[in-house]
Amino acid sequence: MSSDHDFPTRSTGQLISIGLRGKCPRCAIGSTFSGYLKVAERCPVCDLGLEGHDTGDGAVVPAMLLLGSLIVGMAAYVEFTYEPPLWVHGVVWAPTIFALTMMILQPLKGMSIALQYRYRSTEEAGKPGGH
Ligand SMILES: [Zn+2]
Repeated sequence: MSSDHDFPTRSTGQLISIGLRGKCPRCAIGSTFSGYLKVAERCPVCDLGLEGHDTGDGAVVPAMLLLGSLIVGMAAYVEFTYEPPLWVHGVVWAPTIFALTMMILQPLKGMSIALQYRYRSTEEAGKPGGH
C-alpha cells in the first residue's frame, strides 16, 4: 500500500489543476470519480481512500455563483440589445444553464476533493478535520 511519502508534495496550484481534471490528488493518475459525480471509494492507482472526502455543497456554490453571474449578464445583454419575446429567453437560457452546469460541476467537485486532501484530511488525525 502506498503512503503520502511515496508521492511528491504538490503546491495548491498543482492540486487545483489535478482536481479540475478529476485526477487523484495524491498520484495525479487515477480517477477521483467512479461516475459523473460519484466519488470512487479508492484511487485505482495508488489506493488512496477517497470515500471520506465528502465535499457537500463545496462545488455547487461556486457553480451557482459563476453561472448565475454569467447567465444573468448574458440575458441582460440579449434583452437590452435585441428585445426578444420572453419565450426566447426560456428556450435559450434553460439548455445553456443545463449544459454549462454539466460542464463545470465535475471539475469543481474534483478541485474541492483535491483541496480537502491537502487541507482537511479525513484519514489523518493530525490534519484539520481528521478523526
Ligand atoms: Zn491515486
